[in-house]
Amino acid sequence: MNATPAADGQGAETAGERTGGCLCGRIRFTTRGPAVFPHTCVCRHCQKLGGTPVMWWVGFETVTWTGEGGEPTWYETFEGEAKRGFCPTCGSRVAAIDSDIPEIGINVTALDDTSGPDLVPIHASFRDNAVHWLPPVPETEHRTAG
Ligand SMILES: [Zn+2]
Ligand SMILES: [Zn+2]
Repeated sequence: MNATPAADGQGAETAGERTGGCLCGRIRFTTRGPAVFPHTCVCRHCQKLGGTPVMWWVGFETVTWTGEGGEPTWYETFEGEAKRGFCPTCGSRVAAIDSDIPEIGINVTALDDTSGPDLVPIHASFRDNAVHWLPPVPETEHRTAG
């Protein structure tokens, strides 16, 4: 396990293992390492793929697929660069892999426990693309990309 201490007094307990999975339970996973760059995203891909106006992401250095369904089904949103993982049975969004990001992106909503203070978004991506009625996530940077 990467022993890098989390900032702002977040304890070591938040850098351990977490579990999660899809709605039907065929896709299950265990993450290891600290939660990296929790953020929301309202980009067109997140809205279309998620069926939701906003998605909530966080990165982990290691994700192990433990359910009977194995790995999620991957859909390449940018061929060779980015792909999104979902359960082929229930359709739940669970993960994303980006070729220029070392961590594996996890949909925070797929985690069994979403209450950790280290999961609170620190950034809101593509905020200018948000639906008009959605208030911005407080205390996050305003940047169009990233
Ligand atoms: Zn499922
Ligand atoms: Zn997005």
